[in-house]
Amino acid sequence: MIMKGKKGVILGVANNKSIAYGIAKACAAQGAEIAFTYLNDSLKKRVVPIAEEFGSADCVYPCDVSKPEEIKALKESIEKDMGKIDFIVHSIAFAPKEGLSGRFYDISKEAFDIAMDISVYSLIEVVRELKPLLSENSSVLTLTYYGGAKYIPNYNLMGVAKAALEMTTKYLAEDLGKDGIRVNAISAGPIKTLAAAGIGDFRFMLKWNEAHSPLKKNVSIDEVGNSGMYLLSDLSSAVTGEIHYVDSGFNIMGMPAVEFNED
Ligand code: NAD
Repeated sequence: MIMKGKKGVILGVANNKSIAYGIAKACAAQGAEIAFTYLNDSLKKRVVPIAEEFGSADCVYPCDVSKPEEIKALKESIEKDMGKIDFIVHSIAFAPKEGLSGRFYDISKEAFDIAMDISVYSLIEVVRELKPLLSENSSVLTLTYYGGAKYIPNYNLMGVAKAALEMTTKYLAEDLGKDGIRVNAISAGPIKTLAAAGIGDFRFMLKWNEAHSPLKKNVSIDEVGNSGMYLLSDLSSAVTGEIHYVDSGFNIMGMPAVEFNED
């Protein structure tokens, strides 16, 4: 039981297709005690049964990260119900629809600000507010995508947000290393989730990844969950500031491997 005695909070479960659900499943299977958050009342209905499934019925809290008062209240609730914690999972992103297809240069300042606030700044704010509860040797994990490192069609505004999130991971890792807190990101391959449904032509991304990755398959939330569990556990005690790809190796490809007819 690699996570026995570890307690943590997972932000970003929307349903049992969420990457955060895969991470919760892997951590719970290794003995972790987990608190969950939900964005709003309609998602509460889905998240509460999931918390029950993992024995966390008493540790489910509202947290819309665009509302600083809800992040502060989350800290108070966790402190009261759980005391110190050992890990935080930030599996949250949002961009208005206009930012996920069409011409990138058309993006409004309003959409840009919303995407950066919810998908990037929230990591900093959540970590800062919950820091007093983090034990020494704790671990923070966020989720990114290859579209933050290279151009991916339609990923547009979210690509820019993920680039900022990846650098935020590295700056936080340096800053919090002296406090014994590690900060890492998983760059997951495309997975059909609620958030992914908002990205233009997502099915093509799935097909392309499957066809051109070394492992010739897409990744599952269980596979991301297992890698997430490793990064949250003491198995990765010397790993911080890392962008760890869980994408069937897609990111190593400079060019699709096709066979040319020499004639
Ligand atoms: P998901 O829809 O299951 O999860 C996204 C979560 O973000 C939801 O739980 C939603 O409630 C939450 N959220 C949105 N706005 C919020 C707010 N204001 N306050 C609090 N929570 C808010 O989809 P997912 O694919 O599991 O996404 C999780 C993370 O993984 C995201 O950061 C996403 O960008 C990243 N990611 C996804 C993929 C993919 O292909 N699905 C690939 C790589 C990275």
